[in-house]
Amino acid sequence: INKETEVVIIGGGGSGLAAAVSAHQNGAKVLVLEKMPNVGGNTLISGAAYNAVDPKRQGAAGIEDSIEKHYTHTYEGGDKLGKPELVRTLVENAYPTLEWLESLGMKYEDTIETIVGSLWARGHIPVEPLGTGYVNAYMNYIKQHSDEIEIITHAKATDLIVEDGRITGVNAEGENGKIVAKASKGVIIATGGFSANVEMRESYNTIWPSLKNLKTTNQPGATGDGIVMAEKVGANLIGMEYIQLHPTGDPKTGGLDGNVARDIEDNIFVNKNGQRFVDEGSRRDVMSKAILEQEGATMWVIVDKHSYPEGSDDSEFFGSIDSLIAEGRAYKADTLEELAQMMGINPENLVKTVAEFNKHVESKTKDQFGRTLYRNKIDTAPFYGGARVPVVHHTMGGIEINKDAQVLDKDGKIIPGLYASGEVTGGVHGSNRLGGNAMADINVFGKIAGASAAKN
Ligand code: ADP
Repeated sequence: INKETEVVIIGGGGSGLAAAVSAHQNGAKVLVLEKMPNVGGNTLISGAAYNAVDPKRQGAAGIEDSIEKHYTHTYEGGDKLGKPELVRTLVENAYPTLEWLESLGMKYEDTIETIVGSLWARGHIPVEPLGTGYVNAYMNYIKQHSDEIEIITHAKATDLIVEDGRITGVNAEGENGKIVAKASKGVIIATGGFSANVEMRESYNTIWPSLKNLKTTNQPGATGDGIVMAEKVGANLIGMEYIQLHPTGDPKTGGLDGNVARDIEDNIFVNKNGQRFVDEGSRRDVMSKAILEQEGATMWVIVDKHSYPEGSDDSEFFGSIDSLIAEGRAYKADTLEELAQMMGINPENLVKTVAEFNKHVESKTKDQFGRTLYRNKIDTAPFYGGARVPVVHHTMGGIEINKDAQVLDKDGKIIPGLYASGEVTGGVHGSNRLGGNAMADINVFGKIAGASAAKN
């Protein structure tokens, strides 16, 4: 089939849907091609916390923050390897874009959290589970404007159409054969990362030991297609070797669900020997590397009643702590010794480790691993614990863009008609993405890409 529209978006995850809504709000007719049976991508199954400097919510909790601080954390947390122009765009637009999402019906809790590897308390937690709130907010808008925004699922884009040096459309394989989608204003690539593509991951990875045997948090469609398509038309790729491992994956499924931790201030990580080995508030790459060096490349997360005051409260994402225990994914005991025995880790050492940790909570002093984030002691039964492992979570590298989400070639020149946003791009996070910055990234740049393409 032949389709003619103004803006074609490849990928219907969070960033693609943000771009679709934004392009339409800026006056364009839009077509979204999504290869999977459903829209949502990884965004749907992500932790979904959104970092933004928010005077209202952070102010109410007495959390001091600033755009400069968010910039510094992001830039330095990625070893100064991000593009300053993109980091600046991210942090300055994070809150206005969050307000835009709220205008579309997205809802966040009033409280702010410190996400794993976020380095600061600026994480906004969606009211709906995981990333469903984002997808629902965008899809509500899209359904209301279905005459001007079309979504085709089971449509896998295979290559970009180039005419006189300009990107004018996309070829795709649909359920009933080939789709040729022409775009008079522009094409936006929003196909996400390549964490689910083991071969591609191995070929770019120069930093970690082989990642072949690690599980991933990602959905199977995260295979880096957009990166390959863009490269074919001359796009520059940056930071491809920076692959993020998330330190708290489920040992069986690789998912982020089922973690007993709720807020990093209240948990500790111990190894099989019952000892701590890293600052639980540090960068994701630092924590993942440290876990890979422990026996069995596994750690156990320990919390106490402070995390589950009612006993049956929800665990980090969704599912109650009771259901995790019933499924054998988490353990609960009246003493730390008992908990250690149930999990097969050293009981005497765990008791000593917790006593040592509690001293630091009391004095609020930096410990030998550099931890500075404390709240409650781990001293109130019942105690909870569960095993976690590093899993492949996010690919920081990808297509190089400028602050208007225009794709750049190897000479730094704009490729006319081509835009990209979300995890498919590189240069926003440098070598290490902060927890909570992906949701800001994909929404901020999706919104910008949609507007840029529509105004073309
Ligand atoms: P982001 O967070 O950047 O939005 P997601 O992983 O949430 O990334 O979404 C990317 C979406 O792109 C997924 O739904 C994925 O299935 C889709 N996708 C990936 N490759 C293709 C392709 N070749 N054609 C169409 N859709 C694709």
